[in-house]
Amino acid sequence: MNLPVWNPAIEFMEREALERLQLAHLRQTVAWALKTPFYRGRLAEIGLRHPEDIAGLRDLRKLPYTTKDDLREAYPRGLLAVDLEQAVRLHTSSGTTGMPTVIYHSRQDLDRWTELVARCIVATGATAADVFQNMTGYGLFTGGLGLHYGAERVGMLVIPASSGNTGRQLHLMQSFQTTVVLVTPCYLLHLLAALDVEGIPRDRLALRKAFIGAEPHSEQTRRKIEELFRIDAYNSYGLSEMNGPGVAFECVYKTGLHLWEDAYILEMIDPRTLEPLPEGKTGEIVMTTLQRQATPLLRYRTRDLSHLLEGHCPCGRTHRRLARIKGRSDDMLIVNGVNIFPSQIEDVLMKVPEVGTNYLIQLDKRGSLDRLVVKTEICAKLFTGEPNALDDLRERIGEWLRSAILVKPAVELHEPGSLPVSEGKAKRVVDLRPAF
Ligand code: ADP
Ligand code: ZN
Repeated sequence: MNLPVWNPAIEFMEREALERLQLAHLRQTVAWALKTPFYRGRLAEIGLRHPEDIAGLRDLRKLPYTTKDDLREAYPRGLLAVDLEQAVRLHTSSGTTGMPTVIYHSRQDLDRWTELVARCIVATGATAADVFQNMTGYGLFTGGLGLHYGAERVGMLVIPASSGNTGRQLHLMQSFQTTVVLVTPCYLLHLLAALDVEGIPRDRLALRKAFIGAEPHSEQTRRKIEELFRIDAYNSYGLSEMNGPGVAFECVYKTGLHLWEDAYILEMIDPRTLEPLPEGKTGEIVMTTLQRQATPLLRYRTRDLSHLLEGHCPCGRTHRRLARIKGRSDDMLIVNGVNIFPSQIEDVLMKVPEVGTNYLIQLDKRGSLDRLVVKTEICAKLFTGEPNALDDLRERIGEWLRSAILVKPAVELHEPGSLPVSEGKAKRVVDLRPAF
């Protein structure tokens, strides 16, 4: 296949040249970091006062980690590495797990971010001929503006729809014959259900591709989306601390997420011991920015769990690939002593054809024991059927979950559209257990 590539010189760069480039960028990043009150102190503690003290990429390991709490402590200006007049924009994280963090961008930073996003878009086979409807929130959240500028640079016709207002989204999609959308997996499934409710036939839409990300989702969810919508769905990974979207993206082959290693150095660590992990082992992703002047981050602990993939993608890109994100290290639920990731539950649910597109995991207490309740919507036609069939389905889902997570939850089946839908990141877990 002869596929377009946005920046072949970088995307196909040989490993050795790529590492030389990384080292030069790392020294530059340390120079920028030394301009911030936060890193000046941190780096002085390990005796690092000049960028030249970094002799090779191996020296990265000597640098301290940066955590989300560090970013919160440095809020609002402790990590700003340029004069205010050079900073042209700021973004914050969504605040899913607490107080948001802030990242500043210079004009050069925005230009480089846009370049990374353009590479991602083109890697999925999208082109200037596409009509792109951006359904993620514009504003402080990075999904909206981040993808917006990348898509414009590629030359797509961009519809800055932002999130929510399902009726209007469907209207825009029909009027302008949208071919590509950016959306969270949860909201895309909701949109699909809304098509049915509104009685809009699938062929009124010109949709071909969806970029889905911002929250963990399983391979099964991707397949469900692809089959139900008859489109290609590409996984997009990013976090505001690393700009936002454009960190890692799937190409047409969907063999994992291509990471841009000229912009980020990735390390994989054991989140308990903080020791580096061998290639292929699942651990916490740690990233260092290589091109961001206004807010450089060294060894940022993302708390996201994944592993690096071996081998090469048929597309020929040389940068390493990440497996689908399994969840956050702090997502893990402990139910009567058993460790469970919400993604394991989703995996089981999305394999069941009768299961609809939305679910919720609830934890509460019965006496001294934890109780896990899995609430899931099921397809509309089942509600007209036999009550016994529903009991049977409930029992089967309970058993499948037990074999996957080793705990048998109470399963509740709900009518389509009855569980809450989020316009941004889905809130899948409600923990009602009292905190001690
Ligand atoms: P917050 O950390 O407050 O949610 P962000 O908007 O920066 O704010 O969200 C970034 C986080 O979203 C990532 O660290 C990751 O946990 C999650 N995320 C983003 N894209 C994906 C994806 N494709 N798969 C799984 N999780 C994702
Ligand atoms: Zn590829």
